[in-house]
Amino acid sequence: MIQLKGIAAAGGISVGPAHKIGREELTVPRQSIKPEEIPVQIQLFEEALIKTRKEIVALQKRIAVEMGQEQAEIFDAHLLVLEDRMLIEEVILRLKQECVNVAYIFSEVLKKYINVFSKIEDEYLKERVVDVNDVGKRILHNLLGRERKEFEDLKEKVVVVAHDLSPSDTAAMHKQKVCAFITDIGGKTSHTAIMAKSLEIPAVVGVEEATTKIKAGDILIVDGGTGVIIINPDEETLRAYQQEELKLKGITEGFLSVKDLPAVTLDGKAVEIVANIELPEEVPSVKLHGAQGIGLYRTEFFYMNRRDLPSEEEHYQAYKYVAEEMNPLPVIIRTLDLGGDKFLSQFEIPKDMQPFLGWRAIRFCLARPDIFKVQLRAILRASVHGKLKLMYPMISGIEELQQAKKILDEAKKELKDRGIPFYNDIEVGAMIEVPSAAMTADLLATEVDFFSIGTNDLIQYSLAVDRTNEKVAYLYEPAHPAVLRLIKNIIEAAHNAGIRVGMCGEMAGEPAFVLVLLGLGLDEFSMPPLVIPEVKSIIRSIKLSDAQAIAKEALKLSTGKEVAEFSQVKLRKILG
Ligand code: PEP
Ligand code: MG
Repeated sequence: MIQLKGIAAAGGISVGPAHKIGREELTVPRQSIKPEEIPVQIQLFEEALIKTRKEIVALQKRIAVEMGQEQAEIFDAHLLVLEDRMLIEEVILRLKQECVNVAYIFSEVLKKYINVFSKIEDEYLKERVVDVNDVGKRILHNLLGRERKEFEDLKEKVVVVAHDLSPSDTAAMHKQKVCAFITDIGGKTSHTAIMAKSLEIPAVVGVEEATTKIKAGDILIVDGGTGVIIINPDEETLRAYQQEELKLKGITEGFLSVKDLPAVTLDGKAVEIVANIELPEEVPSVKLHGAQGIGLYRTEFFYMNRRDLPSEEEHYQAYKYVAEEMNPLPVIIRTLDLGGDKFLSQFEIPKDMQPFLGWRAIRFCLARPDIFKVQLRAILRASVHGKLKLMYPMISGIEELQQAKKILDEAKKELKDRGIPFYNDIEVGAMIEVPSAAMTADLLATEVDFFSIGTNDLIQYSLAVDRTNEKVAYLYEPAHPAVLRLIKNIIEAAHNAGIRVGMCGEMAGEPAFVLVLLGLGLDEFSMPPLVIPEVKSIIRSIKLSDAQAIAKEALKLSTGKEVAEFSQVKLRKILG
């Protein structure tokens, strides 16, 4: 029995066999073949090349219609890779010489190519690595006859163990087949971890040696609340955890008794408790847990795990569904926030252009109004089916809001010209998640109808701590005095301007911080559906005046740890 410790990313306890996912997607098993099988292997290779060509041409046509010829031409480079005689001949030559399966040979040749390209000094050629890699993966998937169905083929519930998982990997997981996951790297507010909470499966990230210590098939206990993993537990430990799991379920069910009651303090202050979602499929869970609306609908997951861009109609149908299902409760749709740890292969943008401080979120959307407007028109169209609001991510100053407003006005005009109805006065908000926005919240408040504080990013930007990096996770402190002061400033600025202010970062759903945030005057708390009943019950157990006193005390403390401990003690006292 071995115990590992990582970062607790999504609560709950699960037990299951380990299912390891390769670090290198291009790894393919090596199988010897007989010389007489060579022609069949060559045919397989040719068919995969033809299929890939067809896919790329279809994609190119679609992009030309939706985004213009110039964007479609990006794929010419992909088609060129497909026709590269050197690459093709090398594969066939090695196939004949080595007598091993063509998929293996191709993956080896591809790795060599990528290696060579990566070392080239020329920036333009270096960027071709992205093309070679992308086309190479397409060919390989076709060669192996597989789409990304890693999770669909699972026969029993497993614990996924991987070096890293991208948010799109997590989004592709099925709750019925994956009961928990563990990764070597990652932080508490990486989107992979956030997605685990939405799926309501326990997750531990940043375990560092998970993939080296855990073997496929090992029985694992995953405690997503404490970050503990036990490999091949003895009977006694297993029983103890199973009991703990039951106890946790009991506590969660206990909180459910207040789920449909309003979130009102003992002295009558009402706040709104709403939900964060990534996919429309989460709406039933949102309702089940008594949310008073949706405070953050992260729409970028809509663009993931597909090879084309969603059309206006597809966007519209998804937003219409959420608006109608939640009506008359409000739904805040956040416009596309790509970049950081969320990449979309359709855009063909090198990853190093889109780190957290790069060409991300609203910056990308303002530079690509063609893509942005497809989404804006769909949100506007769906606004007649319920109470929709929209908000922009990563606003850093007033000009971005003004530019976004101009594009929104254009989208409205286009719909008017097409005779399509929409709600003209749709509320527009800004996420406050960049320190410059937090410090100039008074200026931004004059441009929007509401604020939503994105602490996941606000913490990483103000403390200079990458939210996905396990090595610096100890510095990622929501209750750091710098963060508390920024939050205080944002709330005061919003209230002075007469607008409402919510919070949709993970901090809003952390029981220990609810009291301080309530005391600071937050109007709306948005969180994963599962924690809503608990947060409601905390708010119903305290007077606003007491929460204000707690916030005042917290602001006097000088470290994040002190604030966290102080808040925890107060919470325990209140909940008995
Ligand atoms: C945030 O930054 O707090 C937020 C809610 O947005 P995201 O986690 O999607 O960056
Ligand atoms: Mg953010």
